[in-house]
Amino acid sequence: LTSRLPAVGTTVFTRMSALAQEHGAVNLGQGFPDFACDPALPDMVADAMRHGFNQYPMMSGAPVLRHAIANKVAAIYGHQYHPDTEITVTCGATQALTTAILCAIHPGDEVIVIEPAYDSYQPAIELAGGIPVTVAMTLGGNGYSVPWDQVQAAVTAKTRMILINTPHNPTGAVLREADMQALADIVRGTDVLILSDEVYEHMVYDGVRHESVCRHPELAARAFVVSSFGKTYHVTGWKIGYVAAPAPLMVEFRKVHQYNVFSINTPMQHGIASYMADPKPYLELPAFYQRKRDLFRNGLQGSRFTLLPADGTYFQCVRYDGISDMREAEFAEWLTTEVKVAAIPVSAFYRQGKESGIVRFCFAKKDDTLALALERLARI
Ligand code: PMP
Ligand code: GLN
Repeated sequence: LTSRLPAVGTTVFTRMSALAQEHGAVNLGQGFPDFACDPALPDMVADAMRHGFNQYPMMSGAPVLRHAIANKVAAIYGHQYHPDTEITVTCGATQALTTAILCAIHPGDEVIVIEPAYDSYQPAIELAGGIPVTVAMTLGGNGYSVPWDQVQAAVTAKTRMILINTPHNPTGAVLREADMQALADIVRGTDVLILSDEVYEHMVYDGVRHESVCRHPELAARAFVVSSFGKTYHVTGWKIGYVAAPAPLMVEFRKVHQYNVFSINTPMQHGIASYMADPKPYLELPAFYQRKRDLFRNGLQGSRFTLLPADGTYFQCVRYDGISDMREAEFAEWLTTEVKVAAIPVSAFYRQGKESGIVRFCFAKKDDTLALALERLARI
């Protein structure tokens, strides 16, 4: 057949995890925890199975879970989504993002993507026949930031959507109130939609507040907001998340969703809904990961890596120009095979493979795993 995605190969995460396994490297590449989730969570899922929650749920998601999500979002961000018409449970954030793009983008529509960008965005835009228009983040003394004047300059009559991601993978950057104002200024008076990837919403450090677009009524009125239970509850393999959007957008989302997956597995939805009754797990997440971030950063202080700021997510980016002038992919492979610590080249998050001499480590690991990695990284 003629490929719909001729430029796409196997993802960098899959490749680096395979290389790490082959070489017995500590895997700080692909983002996932190496520790167990709270055992109460799988117990609640098992209970749901035993209590007979095993047939198709509603296409939009189990009502108990949609209510739990709406309540959580309202409590934290002060925006009330209607659980029946404005929230849909999805197969992870990935499916939510792709479905939002497929339901909104017509052939020839432009979608502004801020790079470095998570790898699923641009292929999804291309499958819809859309045109990704990239704007590169600026890297200064305070880390990565979005040059909103360049985003504004990228808007044309064909722009249909702006895709944002905060806290940001891979840079760890966190958008602030001023960023949201700048975004609002750009879209005001246009019909441009916003797709906001907020899968790391509960991983923001040093007391900084997560600026969900739904905190901002002007933005929420035109936004799909996406999150993932995989990140929040340490269960990336469960592949369950959700999208929230105003009812007219959700009508279109569900038209695609119902013929893409129809619905997401029932017992997990009931188990997660029960688990969400207690807000502690997500309220404690910033402190939990901030400690790991600090442990990892402190361990790298004496090394030849230069640390970039890490305000959110479970990723730490580092410059390695004090060590090597290799290209990022080559350096990440060398780290994996020779130093036995896997990392992800940040160039993989740029369409044109822009080189910055920076790689990304994931610190969502047991303290022992981080200690072993740090011992190896400090020896370089
Ligand atoms: N967006 C971003 C920025 C991510 O880092 C990830 C997880 N790697 C996803 C979306 C996908 O989330 P999920 O595993 O729930 O599909
Ligand atoms: N989001 C994860 C990361 O950035 C990877 C998920 C995947 O492998 N698709 O590392």
